[in-house]
Amino acid sequence: MKKLDQLTFDNRFARLGDAFSTEVLPEPIEQPRLVVASSAAMALLDLDPAEAQREEFAELFAGHKLWGEAEPRAMVYSGHQFGGYTPRLGDGRGLLLGEVVNAAGEHWDLHLKGAGQTPYSRMGDGRAVLRSSIREFLASEHLHALGIPSSRALCVTTSDTPVWREKQERAAMVLRLAPSHVRFGHFEYFYYTRQHEQLKVLGEHVLANHFPQCLTQDEPWLAMFREVLERTAAMIAHWQAYGFCHGVMNTDNMSILGITFDYGPYAFLDDFDANHICNHSDDTGRYSFSNQVPIAHWNLAALAQALMPMIEVEKLRETLELFLPLYQAHYLDLMRKRLGLGLTSAEDDDEALVQRLLQLMQQGKATDYSLFFRQLGEQAPADALQVVRNDFVDLAGFDAWGRDYLARCEREGQQQDERRARMHAVNPLYILRNYLAQQVIEAAEAGDYGPVRELHAVLSRPFDEQPGMQRYAQRPPEWGKHLEISCSS
Ligand code: AMP
Ligand code: MG
Repeated sequence: MKKLDQLTFDNRFARLGDAFSTEVLPEPIEQPRLVVASSAAMALLDLDPAEAQREEFAELFAGHKLWGEAEPRAMVYSGHQFGGYTPRLGDGRGLLLGEVVNAAGEHWDLHLKGAGQTPYSRMGDGRAVLRSSIREFLASEHLHALGIPSSRALCVTTSDTPVWREKQERAAMVLRLAPSHVRFGHFEYFYYTRQHEQLKVLGEHVLANHFPQCLTQDEPWLAMFREVLERTAAMIAHWQAYGFCHGVMNTDNMSILGITFDYGPYAFLDDFDANHICNHSDDTGRYSFSNQVPIAHWNLAALAQALMPMIEVEKLRETLELFLPLYQAHYLDLMRKRLGLGLTSAEDDDEALVQRLLQLMQQGKATDYSLFFRQLGEQAPADALQVVRNDFVDLAGFDAWGRDYLARCEREGQQQDERRARMHAVNPLYILRNYLAQQVIEAAEAGDYGPVRELHAVLSRPFDEQPGMQRYAQRPPEWGKHLEISCSS
């Protein structure tokens, strides 16, 4: 276990030079206070969890101090935002402080979000507010605990520095960890500015450091694209299986590593609705829940375009065609598990069984998507069906589905205690609902960090029943289902 001053840096991205990022120092926030820290994320850096208690911890992660070996830089990238191309974006309010190497030899980018203005801030103030920082922190650690590929979050600090959004708010910072902060938009930037030499340098950096297994393939560039596509398909399958809506799937928010990245107005579905739009600013529903699948495909096509100088167009096209089948196989696999099926066999009709269930949920829009699966595993299938049945409007349709499901469970042939344990290991009891986030944000804004720390702890073990924490496992109150969250954060 290390102390804060014992971290080892190896800043590979910074070494690529000024075409890729600009040196910028963090601009501190006043009188920093630690809101919440993740000991699981600290462990990725081999940091002793007790280090979070030191004053120096909040000072480092609020921009007051810096390691001698850190080389803070703002990265340049561009991207397609809501379908339209923006030629230059970049880190407008975040800095890559440096890359830390842990004892296992893994590199972790330290990215401080809310660290002040950079050459890429455009009209922005370079700041992040407390509510959005808490939301990113909670989601990063929760998705990881759910088994959904994600960037991680080390801590949130806050301050008295005022920030203006629709009203005055508190400036805050969130320290994000990821093996890389390269986005699809990085490739687009060098492609569209016709800097194809730099495009190759960037690609070689990503290949060597993040996809070394592709280097030994006949066509390393193509192998890398294929792997990005596979990982993205797996990530989206997880989002759809667990009811996660990202909200801003612009290509600059898509990680080259296929991990969930850049949390904004995201939401987990409460009642199931395939057409749910979680981003209040998304007027056309481009990033609605069900659109996440075709949009991921669209984003991969945008990446493919930027890789054309390195890969033949026909091969890019062929690879893109693999997306939907890969996604569907992965999704079906996850949904089988959520239904307690597929251990002994996969059946052709399983896909229809899942689709019929979702259609029945869609008709009523009254089924709590997360609790449905948890309740289904709680008791023997016939009894569990009676419990969840009440939330459906087409009762005859649901009963017909239930009969097919029961028959399918019988063919699966599991003992109930074994079935329950397996289903509960994939169906969370606790889910990060927007209203829960809202409650702990309000407390934190008033200076009480107890609730956000408790919620973080509960959501870090979403599958385990935790004594005294029942209130986090409830359906949302009516007001909690209609919170409006927008991009402005
Ligand atoms: P996001 O919607 O957070 O993914 O951000 C899109 C782009 O806007 C990125 O280039 C951000 O760095 C930039 N940006 C967002 N908020 C701010 C801000 N408050 N100040 C400066 N740049 C910002
Ligand atoms: Mg972004």
